[in-house]
Amino acid sequence: MVENVIIIGSGPAGLSAAIYTAREELKPLMITGVPAGGQLLLTTKVENMPGFPDGIDGPELIDRMTKQAEKFGTRMITENVIDVDFSSRPFKIKTESQTLETQSVIIATGANAKLLGIPSEMKFMGTGVSTCATCDGAFFKGKDVVVIGGGDTAMEDSTFLTRFCPNVTIIHRRKEFRASKIMQQKVLSNSKIKVIWNSEVEEIYGKDEIGGIYGVKIRDTETKQTRIVMAQGVFIAIGHSPNTKFLQGKLKLDDLGYIVTENEVVTSIPGVFVAGDNQDRHYKQAGTASAAGIKAAIKVREYLQDISTSK
Ligand code: NDP
Repeated sequence: MVENVIIIGSGPAGLSAAIYTAREELKPLMITGVPAGGQLLLTTKVENMPGFPDGIDGPELIDRMTKQAEKFGTRMITENVIDVDFSSRPFKIKTESQTLETQSVIIATGANAKLLGIPSEMKFMGTGVSTCATCDGAFFKGKDVVVIGGGDTAMEDSTFLTRFCPNVTIIHRRKEFRASKIMQQKVLSNSKIKVIWNSEVEEIYGKDEIGGIYGVKIRDTETKQTRIVMAQGVFIAIGHSPNTKFLQGKLKLDDLGYIVTENEVVTSIPGVFVAGDNQDRHYKQAGTASAAGIKAAIKVREYLQDISTSK
């Protein structure tokens, strides 16, 4: 059997694409990835998703989108895609257990925020530790926070956080930032932002029972001395990894592994569309991923119409 459309990935981009294509009766097949659901499963309250004035927990938002996609007839397979073949038609999508054929595909595999690799960051993820200042900054109103990293994201996040937080401390592992000069200048001239150079975070301290953090232990990379920096929030801004390894050599990827598109969700291969954080180096929001999924779904409909009328 050749599918109309296979959607790879089950975050807001993939699920939005599924809702739209299913409602158009294209009978989409979603390969969710393992575990299903994407980055929103790691968040607690999402307050900036339009339509939820009281906020909604990330996992509940994904659950509702999944139900909506299934209600219109999306079929789901909970597996990982390990290879694709776009060199002939129908396209072939290989999972751990089977090879599927499809006329079109929407790749919505997302990205993962890079983490420090210390156990306490996952323990307090969503209750004091965040990888998204735009998403979570407002929860830290009036609190002192640290931002870890020295790239453009760390600069942008720390500047943004000064809207809510009286003191923002950037902790960077080297003596100079990687960020663009103009963004560095903005940070260095902001009186609410302090920088601790040559330092790595070794531990995040929090209240186990109720969540929330109160400080981080840092080590000076030159003197090797450790000390505690008091803070009620930690924003990790050390980059993202798009989930595109299985696409190497199949689609054009940029230097960081993001998929290069011709025009928004359209790739250079007709019938192959992309949506969400795996091609978005900048916005990385549930709402923008969802919008990209919708655009890709509409493009799939147009593509399937075109190939059926040209037969
Ligand atoms: P980057 O990869 O540019 O920077 C990551 C930063 O995190 C570096 O300073 C790096 O340190 C540090 N880092 C990496 N791993 C660790 C670790 N394990 N422990 C401690 N520190 C670590 O990622 P960004 O997310 O900042 O930016 C990604 C891309 O997006 C860039 O191309 C950037 O220009 C772009 N961007 C553009 C924006 C804009 O123009 N408005 C806004 C945000 C991002 P070190 O320097 O020592 O390697």
